[in-house]
Amino acid sequence: MQRYKEFGLKLTPQRLSILAFLENNKSHPTAEDIYRHIAKKFPTMSLATVYKTLETLKARGRIKEITIDAEKRHFDPETGRHHHAICTGCKKIVDIFMDFDLSAADTDLRGFEITGSHVEFYGLCPDCRKTTTANKR
Ligand code: ZN
Ligand code: MN
Repeated sequence: MQRYKEFGLKLTPQRLSILAFLENNKSHPTAEDIYRHIAKKFPTMSLATVYKTLETLKARGRIKEITIDAEKRHFDPETGRHHHAICTGCKKIVDIFMDFDLSAADTDLRGFEITGSHVEFYGLCPDCRKTTTANKR
């Protein structure tokens, strides 16, 4: 929590509660997930406030927005370089901490100076694979 104090975001109890929920959260929650969790403690807080806080945190580089899911915006407190895999069955998103050789993209990408890259994987997670196999029997 200490690391949030330095960037001049006024830490209201609501905002602290959002930050506490995101800290070490590996589930890549959506804004709605976060709102639902926070609303238990702060029933008067609006979804708009949650969005605004998430935007502020994102603008300050404290969280990343993940766009792997076309239907929902997800947020990630892990800002270090990593990739994601999304399950096409249950839509769960998991971290992929592996290095892929993307050096070809560094040399010539239509004149772009590349500042970042991110690999997205799609497929069935182990749980969904089990269910699919069970259904076939
Ligand atoms: Zn799944
Ligand atoms: Mn992640």
